[in-house]
Amino acid sequence: MVCHGCQNEAVKFGINAQGFQRWRCKYCGRTFSDIPERPLESLRIPFEKAAQVVHMIVEGIGVRAIEGPASVHRDTVLAAMPFGNSGRC
Ligand SMILES: [Zn+2]
Repeated sequence: MVCHGCQNEAVKFGINAQGFQRWRCKYCGRTFSDIPERPLESLRIPFEKAAQVVHMIVEGIGVRAIEGPASVHRDTVLAAMPFGNSGRC
């Protein structure tokens, strides 16, 4: 891992609250996390739509009820679920 600030080598520095690897630069002491810059990119839908889908999931709306109004495939709805789709149908 390379420091985001000075481009020097950074070493592992535990994990953050979300479970991502944390790093600390040996030179400038800066710490940062190994978080993907666009975590919803793999969904291939606009962030606003992904946020809408996630909101509906949190509201307890079923997958089949979401995919119509949100115009997304149910697989995309399932992919947007922060807690995964195990144990639900
Ligand atoms: Zn640095």
